[in-house]
Amino acid sequence: MTAVERLDEIGAHLNAAYKELGEVCTRGPSKRFRMSIPANPERDTDLIIDRALMDATQAGAALRAVLDLHKPVWSTLADGYRCIGCDVPLTDVTPNCPTVATITAALDPS
Ligand SMILES: [Zn+2]
Repeated sequence: MTAVERLDEIGAHLNAAYKELGEVCTRGPSKRFRMSIPANPERDTDLIIDRALMDATQAGAALRAVLDLHKPVWSTLADGYRCIGCDVPLTDVTPNCPTVATITAALDPS
């Protein structure tokens, strides 16, 4: 599975969790919160939500790992900061490399 395919899967799991939580809220926990023996990860409310939370945690850790690869380092040759990951110059005008800028914009809650 590629990273893009995994992100698509995570998105599907999050959508399933939103839908499941919506059903629980609409019908009431006593009528809709489903748990079964044996456990059914495609049907059980707790497992659907748990899977989405675990996926979101993994996605956050993956983003953190990418950010850790794109930190500014001082370059004596360029006499300035550069991104250690993609080697672009960083200035007051462009304080983040394109990778960090893209992730920062994507995570902006506004
Ligand atoms: Zn970078």
